[in-house]
Amino acid sequence: MKTKRKAAVKANKTNSSNGSMVDISLKFDEGWSYSPAPESTDHVSIKERYGLFIGGKFVKPALGKYFATINPATEKKISEVANASSADVDKAVKAARKAFGPWSSLPARERGKYVYRISRMMQEKARELAVIESMDGGKAIREARDIDIPLAAAHFFYYAGWADKLDYAFPNKKPTPLGVAGQIIPWNFPLLMAAWKIAPAIAAGNTVVLKSAETTPLTSMKLAEIIQEAGLPDGVVNIITGAGDTGAALVNHPDIDKIAFTGSTGVGKIIQNAIAGTDKKVTLELGGKAANIILDDAPLDQAVEGIINGIYFNQGHVCCAGSRLFVQEDVADTVIRKLKDRMQTLIVGDPLDKNTDIGAINSKEQLATINRYIKIGKNEGADFYQSKCKIPNKGYWCPPTLFLNVSQSHRIAQEEIFGPVLAVQTFRTVDEVIEKANNTPYGLSAGIWTDKGSKIFNITAKLNAGVIWANTYNKFDPTSPFGGYKESGFGREGGLPGLQAYLNLG
Ligand code: NAP
Ligand code: MG
Repeated sequence: MKTKRKAAVKANKTNSSNGSMVDISLKFDEGWSYSPAPESTDHVSIKERYGLFIGGKFVKPALGKYFATINPATEKKISEVANASSADVDKAVKAARKAFGPWSSLPARERGKYVYRISRMMQEKARELAVIESMDGGKAIREARDIDIPLAAAHFFYYAGWADKLDYAFPNKKPTPLGVAGQIIPWNFPLLMAAWKIAPAIAAGNTVVLKSAETTPLTSMKLAEIIQEAGLPDGVVNIITGAGDTGAALVNHPDIDKIAFTGSTGVGKIIQNAIAGTDKKVTLELGGKAANIILDDAPLDQAVEGIINGIYFNQGHVCCAGSRLFVQEDVADTVIRKLKDRMQTLIVGDPLDKNTDIGAINSKEQLATINRYIKIGKNEGADFYQSKCKIPNKGYWCPPTLFLNVSQSHRIAQEEIFGPVLAVQTFRTVDEVIEKANNTPYGLSAGIWTDKGSKIFNITAKLNAGVIWANTYNKFDPTSPFGGYKESGFGREGGLPGLQAYLNLG
């Protein structure tokens, strides 16, 4: 299926050198458009039903309950996965505990070999994993293929390298693994989040029980198959499926040594309460409401690309999305005009089409949340603007959206929407934008666009955010730590801090 790009852009006139009015508006519905370029699904194998991956085997859930996972672009069922009860959680934790002794005492270079093997097998199956990620979660195949899957494999590869070098990573310490880690991930980057969690944990000698998100369980089931095929000793990695209750049972299990959670701030708070008074270690990677700051000396065309990538990448389902745009007043009109034009060129539609820029919203519930915020933004008095793209009849879709004339007190400027909705504000001075950017309960990420390195150093030093990009946005690398301040959580994933989070440094 192909979305035809159509846009009736209002006449945009300017004075020419001889004083006559010249129409400079772009015509998006004229000229050539892309032919459909659907990615094939022939090479993909998805079972009708998946059990729980416990102790190296796929097993039936204790209560025999399963739930469907659907394709949000078609609303069709793809497969069924098990709904793990607390009895299943207990079984998985027991399997991980049993595996911990042998795994942690295996020579570290042998552990590393297994982790390398998983990475190589993910690379071999990259095309299949990318298609399944796109089908199960709605993301554009271009992104699943070029970002999610290669980065997930890169995380295993990177941490495999550290497995036998822990004494060098933490000199003069005696690093030892923590034990059994309970890991809970969200639906926006399913395989990548599983890799962020599993790779450093097992490289450091821990064993894990990972729960995938309710709407996107399939690539974690494929990862379980890879782990089985890689011959990883039984019970080192256990992967279970289920909803919030399953996650809660994992958090509350008494034989867990560490909880690693990525998800919403609301659930992060529940988890922190639940483990208070226990000696469980915890890292929380939570929500965000990042400021993307455009100074008037920035390369504006590149900055517009950065704004687009910052908020519309992965349908805006990105914790570090640049969802608050701050543009310096004297270039605001130019930036907004260029931004609106660029939004009209974004192709929204079939996630499996290689031309698609923006795929389906992950679930009906998430679409309802986004639409609720769009309504709130309108009621708050902000100016609404949406790309005029055509969207498919079936499935869950939200065209790229922005709000102008937003003020700091608006809910759309304060709360995480987790969709393709940008709140735009302007500023005059650097001090003003630093104050505005920091005026949020979150502190996960930020972006700065300027020609001057000195301004980058000045502003980045004053922003309360865990990750700050300069003249780029949404760039990730396994060697680079990622994590937040304030209500965006604590602890880091990626790089050496991500490894340290799974070790006791005696
Ligand atoms: P969520 O509702 O908090 O869910 C995250 C995970 O926790 C899911 O697996 C969920 O299961 C499970 N869960 C729900 N209730 C639970 C409970 N009471 N105890 C234990 N586990 C529970 O978040 P989401 O909507 O899936 O993901 C979006 C959020 O994740 C956004 O706020 C985003 O910013 C954040 N995020 C943060 C990062 C980061 O690195 N900081 C990265 C990605 C996403 P179900 O799937 O069944 O609900
Ligand atoms: Mg799904």
